Amino acid sequence: MGYTTVIGLEVHVQLLTNSKLFCGCVNRFNPDEPNSQTCPVCLGLPGALPVMNEHAFKLGVKTALGLSCNIPSFTKWDRKQYYYPDLPKAYQISQYDLPFSEDGVFEIETNSETGETKKIGIIRAHLEEDAGKNIHDEKGRGNDSQVDLNRCGTPLVEIVTQPDLRSAKDAHIFLEELRTMLTYLEVSDCNMQEGSLRCDANINLHVETDDGHVIATPIIEIKNMNSFRAVEIALEYEEKRQYEVWKKTGNTLEGSSKQTRGWDANREITFAQREKEDVSDYRYLPDPDLVPVIVEEEFVQSIRDEMCELPADRRKRLQAMYQLSNYDIGVVINQGPEFANYFETVAKGCGDGKQATNWVTQDILREMNERSVGINEFPIKPPVLAALLTKIVAKEISVTSAREIFNTLLTDAAGGDMPIIEHIDEIIKEKGLAMVSDTGQLDGVIETILANNQKIADDFRGGKQGAIGPLIGQVMKEVKGADPKTVRQMIIEKLSS
Ligand code: ZN
Ligand code: MN
Repeated sequence: MGYTTVIGLEVHVQLLTNSKLFCGCVNRFNPDEPNSQTCPVCLGLPGALPVMNEHAFKLGVKTALGLSCNIPSFTKWDRKQYYYPDLPKAYQISQYDLPFSEDGVFEIETNSETGETKKIGIIRAHLEEDAGKNIHDEKGRGNDSQVDLNRCGTPLVEIVTQPDLRSAKDAHIFLEELRTMLTYLEVSDCNMQEGSLRCDANINLHVETDDGHVIATPIIEIKNMNSFRAVEIALEYEEKRQYEVWKKTGNTLEGSSKQTRGWDANREITFAQREKEDVSDYRYLPDPDLVPVIVEEEFVQSIRDEMCELPADRRKRLQAMYQLSNYDIGVVINQGPEFANYFETVAKGCGDGKQATNWVTQDILREMNERSVGINEFPIKPPVLAALLTKIVAKEISVTSAREIFNTLLTDAAGGDMPIIEHIDEIIKEKGLAMVSDTGQLDGVIETILANNQKIADDFRGGKQGAIGPLIGQVMKEVKGADPKTVRQMIIEKLSS
């Protein structure tokens, strides 16, 4: 007896606007000064009237277009009514039956080795305001709870997927891919620690019985997961738990209400929170304070025009242009748009995508991490790296020499000298790193070194392949600009003759 896992996600994304969704209060994460970014509108004081933030609407549309959603020409605002201390109006302004976008699709790469992809349906993406925050004394000392309304009224896009995901890993990949896209579109900072990206997951199982039937188990919604990794392990846990419960009780989807479970990150278990409210419990009604939004085609087109190339498209284009592996291009794209720009300039500049990938994903990333700087602050600019790599491609210097030059440029940069292209030639001259193509010069050096290392030479002749390493090393020390490949070849020829 087996089962299929069925997962759908609800992702709340905080939009990167200056002000809140329906008032002029600043939209900024600020836990240090609670209740300082509020006004009568977001506090829900009597008589205050909301006015829609057009920029937030634009960012919403941009997000929806990135998800290939349809943008209907008419959309409206609804009140979702519930009481909670962090929601002083006792309703959230959201969108119910006529969201501003629907019917999208988002492709994820389910296998990074084969590049296999899967299309995940998007039911809808709607706009809504966020609630404030209740802060409870979790140590249980003072028993006091506090309310911070700074977040109240900040703009959110809620993205609801079809239940198309089939594993916890797929869910993790979906979220990574979504975050990458939102970063490229610059609609959100996607900072999970600050709650800019929050995910709830719906999961149930389709169990195949011995007599060939498929039975769906009750749907569980998991909340409070604060990282993508947490989403993955919570879903893995829940999948096993549901199967055990089904074996014991035989409970099915029909006749069970949806249950909400929380995720306990310390104990790595889910725990029952409440039976989920029905939509009818929220008593949705059109918000009489806000006019519906008529969305003109030109408006949508103007947003489409200013959108950058989506990361998935960019991945495919660069991969085809430079014949890169799924893994390599994945690293480049996932580092964000600036990093991809850096890579593209270097690849174009030196004309060798593979060489550019090697340097950018290894040397540059390593040095960035060591210095904890972003790609834009990195001292070696793309034209300089491109010039350096061009010399490798033209066989003017070896890769080993290029590394030495790279390190020298970085050391000089630390001393305040901004690396420039001309400096590369100076270093080559100073350190004698120009590739020695004159085999005559190499010939003499190799002869001498072989004569002085009879034992190693004999070891190599006797079948010890590794013995050649130290010999190459000695030649390279003597003739700095030598190409190690040529040296290796020449030594092998001499030893086998
Ligand atoms: Zn306000
Ligand atoms: Mn919501």
